[in-house]
Amino acid sequence: MADHHCDLLVIGAGASGASVAYEAVRRGLSVALLEAGDISGGTSCRSTKLLHGGVRYLELAFKTLDIAQLQLVREALLERGHWLRTVPLLANRLELVLPTKNWFDKTYYGLGLGLYDALSGDTGLGHSRRLSRDELVQALPQLCPRQGGVAYSDGQFDDARLNLLLALTAEQGGATLRRSCRVIGFERNPAGRLTAAVSETETGQQERWQAQVIVNTTGIHADAMRRLADPDAPPRLLTSRGTHLVLKDNLCPQGMGLLVPATEDGRVLFMLPFFGHTLVGTTDQACEQTEAAIPSEDEETYLLRYVRQWFPGLSHPVVSSRWAGGRPLLQPSGGERSSSQVVREHEVETLPCGLVSLMGGKWTTCRPMAMDCLAAVERQLPSPMQKPKGLPLLGTATNPDQTLPELQGQRASLKDLLPDTPERPRQIAHLQHSFGLRAQSVVAKTTVEEREPLSSVIPICRAEIRHFIRDEHATSASDVLSRRCRLAMVDSAEADRLRPLVEEELK
Ligand SMILES: Cc1cc2nc3c(=O)[nH]c(=O)nc-3n(C[C@H](O)[C@H](O)[C@H](O)COP(=O)(O)OP(=O)(O)OC[C@H]3O[C@@H](n4cnc5c(N)ncnc54)[C@H](O)[C@@H]3O)c2cc1C
Repeated sequence: MADHHCDLLVIGAGASGASVAYEAVRRGLSVALLEAGDISGGTSCRSTKLLHGGVRYLELAFKTLDIAQLQLVREALLERGHWLRTVPLLANRLELVLPTKNWFDKTYYGLGLGLYDALSGDTGLGHSRRLSRDELVQALPQLCPRQGGVAYSDGQFDDARLNLLLALTAEQGGATLRRSCRVIGFERNPAGRLTAAVSETETGQQERWQAQVIVNTTGIHADAMRRLADPDAPPRLLTSRGTHLVLKDNLCPQGMGLLVPATEDGRVLFMLPFFGHTLVGTTDQACEQTEAAIPSEDEETYLLRYVRQWFPGLSHPVVSSRWAGGRPLLQPSGGERSSSQVVREHEVETLPCGLVSLMGGKWTTCRPMAMDCLAAVERQLPSPMQKPKGLPLLGTATNPDQTLPELQGQRASLKDLLPDTPERPRQIAHLQHSFGLRAQSVVAKTTVEEREPLSSVIPICRAEIRHFIRDEHATSASDVLSRRCRLAMVDSAEADRLRPLVEEELK
């Protein structure tokens, strides 16, 4: 069995694991990041793709006068600002509207969203604003009549690509990154502390990973890992499924999303612009872990009911894609917990055997989550970690404020490289979204044929597919079509059309 040594072994390469690996590399640790399937193949590619503080959490904090909850909304809003500044290639400001029925709604939402703006401080995205009936019709022409609305801003991002960027940048910074490499067991010293993990590839090849500290970032599978490390560890997670639909119909033609403030089961729903289509979600359905990624017909019916209710002119919405992700619901650990732990969406736990588990949380706050996790890791290391060094995410500038101007400067060269088709402006935007400042290098030394756009839904080209396979650890058509580019998650029939071509490239 091959043997590897590192300071830190991270199990699971979703948002949490990739963030921990990236932040650990910046702090001078030698890191191995192991993923059972594809990078971002779990919940992290199936989110609503919002960078947000959570308007819902703000309302909760307001109603319960909970300062700790307010601080968490603020933390998430600051993180929203961090990502919008750090990865402007794949994150952008998104305006959303809360429709109002009467002056009370308008005042209530106006005050709440004013506070949301205020909490984001210097990282604010502009003031929320009241919309008249006419302005609302202009923004969402097919929406059922409402008196007006209140518009506010959050961030929208490409979750799978940010996940990849974090993992690939950690790899570039020295981490070992292995996909299709499932952890199946642990080794202990005589005192019962974990010393190594054993992994297995799809072909049954096993490897041993000796590490000073082992971190469990396996999302809804965290309990399985915890019990593998310590059969007496009490279960902490329940799974709930969140389903999204993508509609072919573009219900948000001006780029403004809709927040449905209250469903009959007391939640919020989003209908958002998504690659010229509409993303609708999400549900919250308790389920078995094995069914976390399988959308049910009931959930589809539920979501479509709200689509018809809010867009009554749309009698036959066309669903072009559907997908679901598992939400790990953290259960109290049993002992006394402080109020700050109760409101926190994530938890870092260290078992007596040394396994550190990072559980729960949200995409927006994966950076402070990683930092909390590394604080627990550091307690087990023989010496303190180094101060973090700069490690710009792949495709971004050393100074984040230069990324947008440099992307702007790159457009002319991309225009020269790409074939003169009606898709060219979209193709430039798409390449920069996917690869940032590396876009040019992805298409530079390729033939004209390799640069031809292959789809009008997302103008992906063969040069990209080859890059995904060669440089981004893609090994299946689904890796390419669902996560390296988002075609399958936008329009599954169009992805099926390109599947044979991708499979041919994979041979
Ligand atoms: C429906 C839904 C919508 C959401 N929307 C938003 C949103 O809009 N904004 C936001 O901020 N947050 C959102 N979230 C939360 C966010 O998506 C999650 O917090 C985040 O993706 C969780 O990442 P993770 O790395 O913990 O888990 P995952 O992404 O599930 O990653 C865990 C990884 O561990 C791997 N793994 C499991 N077992 C093993 C093993 N034995 N060996 C090796 N690898 C293993 C899995 O294959 C998987 O890739 C949403 C969540 C849901 C469910």
